[in-house]
Amino acid sequence: MTHPLPDDLIRKDVRDLPEYNAGLALDRFRDAYGIDCVAKLDSNESPLGPSPRAIEVMREAAKGVARYPDAANTALRSAIARSTGAEADRIIVGNGSEDLIGALFRATIRAGDHVVTICPSFGLHEFGALTFGARVTKLPFEADWSFPVETIKAELRSAPRILIFSSPSNPAGPAICENAFRAIVEAADPATLICFDEAYVEFIDPQHRFDALGILAASGKPHIVLRTFSKAYGLAGARVGYGIASAPAMIRALMKTRNPFGVNAMAAAGAIEALADTAHLDRVLQCAAAERDRVAAALTAKGYPCAPSQTNFVFFDTGQPANEFAEGLRRAGILIKAWQEAPFQTWARVTMGTAAENDAFLAAVPQISGKVA
Ligand SMILES: *Cc1c(COP(=O)(O)O)cnc(C)c1O
Repeated sequence: MTHPLPDDLIRKDVRDLPEYNAGLALDRFRDAYGIDCVAKLDSNESPLGPSPRAIEVMREAAKGVARYPDAANTALRSAIARSTGAEADRIIVGNGSEDLIGALFRATIRAGDHVVTICPSFGLHEFGALTFGARVTKLPFEADWSFPVETIKAELRSAPRILIFSSPSNPAGPAICENAFRAIVEAADPATLICFDEAYVEFIDPQHRFDALGILAASGKPHIVLRTFSKAYGLAGARVGYGIASAPAMIRALMKTRNPFGVNAMAAAGAIEALADTAHLDRVLQCAAAERDRVAAALTAKGYPCAPSQTNFVFFDTGQPANEFAEGLRRAGILIKAWQEAPFQTWARVTMGTAAENDAFLAAVPQISGKVA
């Protein structure tokens, strides 16, 4: 039995939001399609999983699960401070960095505020802001997939409350170059919070890396850099992300608007160990870089345009409604993410799995033109 909700119970901002376009969990896929998944390439998870040492310490931490975890997350924040060089009082951890994005909007957005991001974009950058009645401007990438520095600078003149975007970009893949980043930071009004989402920072090739945290810190502008243990560290199911802010006052505010015990004891222990196992991380990054270059070349040869990627995924134009393309692959047991944001509804994002998983994906993708891969 279901009861209708009173018409005005749910805020209009919330009623108007689309549902989150999440990947399909493996057991739900099996129930829906009646076959086992061959390759789960829809959520940018790590095919090599977390460090085995992380799993071991999480098992150990489970023994202490009767107690609440440390609300200040002292040990994890110290470990992040050591690995990033930022002071612990400028670091916050959350139940995934998505939790921190929500905490950020709760702490800052008033109805009618202006938020600027880039299109295609990570959905929560837009929807999280819309929940609080913000007006969101989405600026397209340049035709060659470089970041739209001039249009961002033009928007910054009106001092939006927040500029938020990911680099490397999810879903597109490219990483912003140092000069472009410096120009944007320089142009930002001191009243604008720069939220720089580095969920894929570990995957950037050495020749494209630069110290975004250092540039932001030197600028004196309000900022927060977001990172996560869900991607390169392979802990998506544990739900841990972190933010590094310009000032301890920002962290104190976010501590009030995040979920107080959002990072559980097992997740915190696993994240600390994952940071320490740099040999495992190196294996993950090598595999991802080699596979994404190979898969992008194979897709291009089959006639599918690809955006350049500095991540563990490739964004490509399927040349047809991407939902239908992805549905065809699902029937072969292969999960990818069909993009639903205009004007990219013919584009899809495929996460790099193991070489065998990626081969299964490539074998299932029809050749549409060009030379044989
Ligand atoms: C995956 C992702 C996140 C969030 O990851 P969590 O699992 O919530 O830590 C944040 N931003 C971008 C751009 C992502 O792709």
